[in-house]
Amino acid sequence: MANAVKEAEKLLERLGMKDKIPVDVMEIARALGAKVVLKAFDGEDDLSGMLFQDNNQIIIGVNANHHPNRRRFTVAHEIGHLVLHKHIFEGRVHVDKAFEVKMFRDGRSKQGKDFIEIQANRFAAELLMPTESLKRELKDKYVDVENDDEVKALANKYEVSAHAMSIKLFNTASDLFETQESLPL
Ligand SMILES: [Zn+2]
Repeated sequence: MANAVKEAEKLLERLGMKDKIPVDVMEIARALGAKVVLKAFDGEDDLSGMLFQDNNQIIIGVNANHHPNRRRFTVAHEIGHLVLHKHIFEGRVHVDKAFEVKMFRDGRSKQGKDFIEIQANRFAAELLMPTESLKRELKDKYVDVENDDEVKALANKYEVSAHAMSIKLFNTASDLFETQESLPL
């Protein structure tokens, strides 16, 4: 799991984008040679996005009917596949449906497809909400994750859903706790 987070960090660093909030996910896709295409997948509301190659062009398809913040997460998720799992998807079309529910780990998730999806989600969360940036942001502050307004304000700043921000805050807080750093959350 640490690997996915590290790869997202490295990518932001390499592109000189780690301090620019909100993170320009479209620019990152472009930098990696991927073309982002918005498409109304009518009648397929749970279809978030897809990753495939058309001739030599890498295409990230995103559900145009979804909220812009969710679309950003989808693009970041597909970038995660591109960076972490390119060898797996070579020559295939990868389709993502409602992957947000899979952000929680369960018994089956350690292997196979679920594991890949969780890695892509961790990558996406780090890409859009870099831990270092959040730590700076939250230094000496207390954020009440039960307070919708506080989480929403933070989510708006990073242009992610409040749901994605809550999960990232919980993960960041527990990671900090595990490394015994001071805990602002
Ligand atoms: Zn996926």
